[in-house]
Amino acid sequence: MQTPTKKPHPAGVAAGINSHSDYNTHDILSEVTSRLKGIIKRHNGGMLAFCPSHDDRKGRSLAVSEGREGQILLHCFAGCSVHEITGAIGLNAADLFPRTESKYDPKTRSFFNEWQILSTLQHDATVVLIAARWMLAGHALPESDMDFLSKAVIRINEAASYSRRFK
Ligand SMILES: [Zn+2]
Repeated sequence: MQTPTKKPHPAGVAAGINSHSDYNTHDILSEVTSRLKGIIKRHNGGMLAFCPSHDDRKGRSLAVSEGREGQILLHCFAGCSVHEITGAIGLNAADLFPRTESKYDPKTRSFFNEWQILSTLQHDATVVLIAARWMLAGHALPESDMDFLSKAVIRINEAASYSRRFK
């Protein structure tokens, strides 16, 4: 017996989805949100969804918003890293950024280059903004977020050490 309604997992066809040449922010956002569950829009902009990287049935811990450079910002208030979140939906952190650079080559994704390190740091920096918005909306900053911010500082330091090899 066949199951004709069964579709392949989205992660398996990631490379083939965007056949049109314009891979803009809207495409990235819909690509990301199509892989998330329980999305709701917040009135102060952005969205909330169930975090795919941890057991998030109690509440939507994942904040999704668009950055100024057209990148998609993902932040789990329970403390999952952007790599864990993107990994859980079959993407990687670099997929959250608009593909405007022609030197972007999928084959070089297996190691970190300066651009990827900066992408990670850019995310860490914007998390501070998301946390600020969260508090502005009258929420207390969860302890896990304080942890996250501390880890972000450690990552920035590690990135500085790591990038010395590009000299
Ligand atoms: Zn999470």
